[in-house]
Amino acid sequence: MQACNSCGKCCIKYSNGDLSASEQDIDMWQLFKPDIAAYVKKGLIWYSPQSGKQLSLCPFLREVKNPQHPNKPFYSCDIYYDRPEDCRFYPVTVKQMINDQCEMLQDGDVDNPHQAQKDLDNLLADSRPSYE
Ligand code: SF4
Ligand code: SF4
Repeated sequence: MQACNSCGKCCIKYSNGDLSASEQDIDMWQLFKPDIAAYVKKGLIWYSPQSGKQLSLCPFLREVKNPQHPNKPFYSCDIYYDRPEDCRFYPVTVKQMINDQCEMLQDGDVDNPHQAQKDLDNLLADSRPSYE
């Protein structure tokens, strides 16, 4: 298990209607980040402020260049510290990572999913929300 390499597959796969934000996320955006709140419609993300239609891609996903891999696209999140709850929890399980071809997976993780899950949970312990 390795750290996220910003391949962007998860954002691209889920941001066209399969992501949700918590009530707390939306309350915070409405109070402090109206530019993000503008993309919420009836508690759902991400919707065009202009047309009111569901977007096919997260408006905060930005392609970035990596000189070490000039032919591979990488992505950054323009609202990383304010991203919605679903994004902060991802990836949740090794099974989900395999299904999504998440590039945090390394050789051996698929053969030892129990240990891989432990490694994942340790790796994400600081970035996942804590409600304690
Ligand atoms: S908010 Fe950030 S992490 Fe979530 S889908 Fe958009 S770019 Fe990806
Ligand atoms: S699919 Fe995995 S490696 Fe790629 S951006 Fe998402 S979490 Fe990171």
